[in-house]
Amino acid sequence: MTPARHLSPHLPRPQADAEALVWFAPTPTSRELVLAWTCDCLAIFFELIQSGGVAFIRRTIQDEREPVIAETHRWPLREAWLTWAAMLAGQVRVNGRGGVVESSGQ
Ligand SMILES: [Zn+2]
Repeated sequence: MTPARHLSPHLPRPQADAEALVWFAPTPTSRELVLAWTCDCLAIFFELIQSGGVAFIRRTIQDEREPVIAETHRWPLREAWLTWAAMLAGQVRVNGRGGVVESSGQ
């Protein structure tokens, strides 16, 4: 067993009234800084990533062929941290469709 394993958080079950995060196909970014991450022992893991003055959450679904990656909106840093904290507290849902731009009008 690797000592560093499972030191990162695992997501709790979302609360019943948790709002769903909306996921989009990944957008190329320059100079990413990974601020925080969840444990990658699970099939899905999350990273909080800063790029310039904004930040977003990246969801990676580990697949045998290639990972499926989706990202949230870009937020101001403070808002991104608040959303990250809400995610770790089970206050947002993270298991919506991946890699697809969800239309808001339907
Ligand atoms: Zn783990």
